[in-house]
Amino acid sequence: MPYTIALTGGIGSGKSTISNIFARLNINIIDSDVIAHEMVKPGSHVLRIINERYGCSILTKNGTLFRSRLREIIFQNDKERYWLNNLLHPLIDIKTKELKKTVKSPYVIWVAPLLIENKLQHCADRILVVNVNKSIQLKRVQVRDNVPISQLEQIIAIQATQQQRMVFADDIIDNIGTIENTFLQVIKLHNFYLKLAKMKQG
Ligand code: ADP
Repeated sequence: MPYTIALTGGIGSGKSTISNIFARLNINIIDSDVIAHEMVKPGSHVLRIINERYGCSILTKNGTLFRSRLREIIFQNDKERYWLNNLLHPLIDIKTKELKKTVKSPYVIWVAPLLIENKLQHCADRILVVNVNKSIQLKRVQVRDNVPISQLEQIIAIQATQQQRMVFADDIIDNIGTIENTFLQVIKLHNFYLKLAKMKQG
């Protein structure tokens, strides 16, 4: 298995932004959110199961998943959230393991938003936590997704707290400042991870 760095953080903390920088440094990325998105493509088995549970209103006119509607359902109802998690997570796990076997770079960045929530810490060699504060999180996600603030608050309340993530952090990226600032932190970590991966290889 490749040397695995789990990248985690709350919604809008900057995981995608940071994984894109690692990708530009030719590091392979395995992103749980990307896997989950692909799993619910039109015509997929998983989308059919979701459709059976919630009816046609969970699909857009084009037959794609009506994401904001699903978000509304699962963030208002714990039972539905657990149901969806139980459906998706075993499949995401299988796909993640498959993808790990194809990694070509000296280490892999595994973007795992729910690493702590799903107790997957043991699946990584190191844990990299993105640090932002809640007000920045709210501001950036609103610009990105146009989600109502009440729903965002609900999502953040369900996710692990930043303190809970920090308990498991081997490394931290502070993403409160500019992208350039974050970029410099990624470069430093990249050089560090290259060394660690080499040491692991023996
Ligand atoms: P996540 O993947 O953790 O949900 P994103 O990487 O998508 O978060 O970042 C959330 C939003 O904030 C995106 O629109 C992104 O472009 C923006 N963003 C991320 N980091 C910064 C930063 N340092 N400065 C300004 N905007 C940022």
